[in-house]
Amino acid sequence: LVISGPYESLIKLLASIEYTVTTKDFSNRIRPHDSDGMGAISRNFNELLAIAQRLIAEKDYLASTDSLTGAYNRRKFTDLLTSELQRKLRYSGRLTLIMFDIDHFKHINDEFGHAAGDAVLREMARLVHGLIRANDVLVRWGGEEFMILLPQSGHKAAAALAEKLRGAIEACHFPGVPKVTVSFGVSEYKTGDTLESLCARVDNALYRAKEEGRNRVVVYDGSEF
Ligand code: GH3
Ligand code: MG
Ligand code: MG
Repeated sequence: LVISGPYESLIKLLASIEYTVTTKDFSNRIRPHDSDGMGAISRNFNELLAIAQRLIAEKDYLASTDSLTGAYNRRKFTDLLTSELQRKLRYSGRLTLIMFDIDHFKHINDEFGHAAGDAVLREMARLVHGLIRANDVLVRWGGEEFMILLPQSGHKAAAALAEKLRGAIEACHFPGVPKVTVSFGVSEYKTGDTLESLCARVDNALYRAKEEGRNRVVVYDGSEF
């Protein structure tokens, strides 16, 4: 059976629609055949695909991002760290978390207002984004607590980065407030770690940094706690 003309175009069009429906590949576009009147249908279908693609991208962005700071949210962090931990079972390589928390932030809010506090959070995220690498992931963990996932660094490189961030924040002039400082915990993945055990350890390191006087970096290097 030889199919040609409008039927051939119709079959190609149907195959392309079926491809998108089964693969959910909304970047797919149909090549319009203007000669047989199928072109208009194809172009309209392409327009629908483009709308669906934009809506999905927008939904993904909103579902994964904190609106105040533009950092990833905790839900996205869980997804990313879970897949990094799965990769760890198959490949070698290092993985470290940095957790940080603004010192006496309640005082900043109480003294200078919630809007000034929000501006500090926004500006700090911008500063940190400018100092980490493209593969490093900044996450807003909670109110004034952040996490950085470093998929290619060990604890020494992560500690050096944390120290650089600490110094940059201390030296930064945030509008409307006096000096802002931050405490950091650092912990590297070790064999057998789960998401919970790794997060608990970095949280513990941050707790130590607070206890030891704030505005400092405490590293869990495997020999303590
Ligand atoms: P510490 O040095 O021990 O971390 O002290 P702290 O005051 O930073 O810690 P605490 O947990 O007592 O206070 C955190 C404050 O952060 C209280 C809360 O109102 C404020 N906060 C949380 N989220 C936001 C936010 O989105 N915007 C603003 N402006 N403030 C926030
Ligand atoms: Mg704090
Ligand atoms: Mg806190």
